Amino acid sequence: EGKVKKSSFEAVSEGRRLCDQVGGDLSVLLAGEEIEALAEDFGAYGADRVFVLEDPKLAAYSTEGFTAVLAPLVQEKNPAILLMANSILARDLAPRLAARLGCGLMTDCVELALDGGKFSVLRPVFGGKALVREEAAGEGPAFATIRPNVFSMDPVDPPKSAEVEKVPCDPGEIRTRFVEKIEEGDGQIDLTEAEVIVSGGRALKNAENFKILEELASLFHGAVGASRVAVDSGWRPHSDQVGQTGKVVNPKLYIACGISGSVQHLAGMGTSRTIVAINTDPEAPIFEKADDGIVGDLFTVIPLLTEELRKVFNLF
Ligand code: FAD
Repeated sequence: EGKVKKSSFEAVSEGRRLCDQVGGDLSVLLAGEEIEALAEDFGAYGADRVFVLEDPKLAAYSTEGFTAVLAPLVQEKNPAILLMANSILARDLAPRLAARLGCGLMTDCVELALDGGKFSVLRPVFGGKALVREEAAGEGPAFATIRPNVFSMDPVDPPKSAEVEKVPCDPGEIRTRFVEKIEEGDGQIDLTEAEVIVSGGRALKNAENFKILEELASLFHGAVGASRVAVDSGWRPHSDQVGQTGKVVNPKLYIACGISGSVQHLAGMGTSRTIVAINTDPEAPIFEKADDGIVGDLFTVIPLLTEELRKVFNLF
């Protein structure tokens, strides 16, 4: 949408922190069509250089086109570390790029470290039940994708004026045909980037009832998520689904309303910074994961909570 995602700036910020530890040089790869103007934004987060790869064939994302233009540039520059935000696009692109580069790939990392020049990462496994530390091995760059909303996005002081370099590129033949673009959700904030998410499950009973969650979420400028049951029932679009077969989210605050807390749902939101659960069943598994729990009927609790929060927010 003509904007750089917040999660990409988080990757740039984290890259800056790593570079500062070893006196390294930070470059950004920016690929698309008519995107050169966006290159200016990266200096504020500490980029030394932005390589701009522009071609009309890159207007719509395709695995083939983006791999074809990025791989030769990475091979030529031969960076020690390559970072990408773990967006839906990266889940498609990063494995193909790693295969083309002949290097490994560590996905969905929540911590990056450089110890004695050795690069290692921490990443959740088994649906977030455990964390594993991994080190890059073998040839090529240490390639990692980072979980959105985990790393901070810090402007550097003073901002750098990143050098912008246009690189000729050839996306080659793209066998995927772009047919149509369909907007995700109804213009709500992308779940993976939201700082506050209010999610609803089976207990919501119908699409209409999600209005009370939307009202609560809007107070925080947050987004509404859903369990798979709510999505399968047709109450919310699939783009709102949180979990193993939906999105992995990491907001500052996750409010789970009438959601039992299945392992598949927890896999998508278990690393949220603060989890609040509202459920009528005191034995619901979600309470084991929640920082704060409210045992009660969501149709009573949420309107009360919204009303009280509105009073608090009106004070400021
Ligand atoms: P339920 O488990 O039925 O829970 C409803 C909860 O609401 C209960 O705890 C109940 O006590 C409470 N409740 C009822 N009435 C009220 C009320 N008035 N006020 C407050 N609380 C109330 N699920 C996902 O969410 N995301 C996924 O990505 C996902 N992927 C899956 C992949 C696979 C391969 C499989 C097999 C399953 C997957 N599931 C996923 C489904 C998952 O197993 C659960 O079935 C689902 O998460 C349950 O949704 P729920 O919590 O909304 O419903």
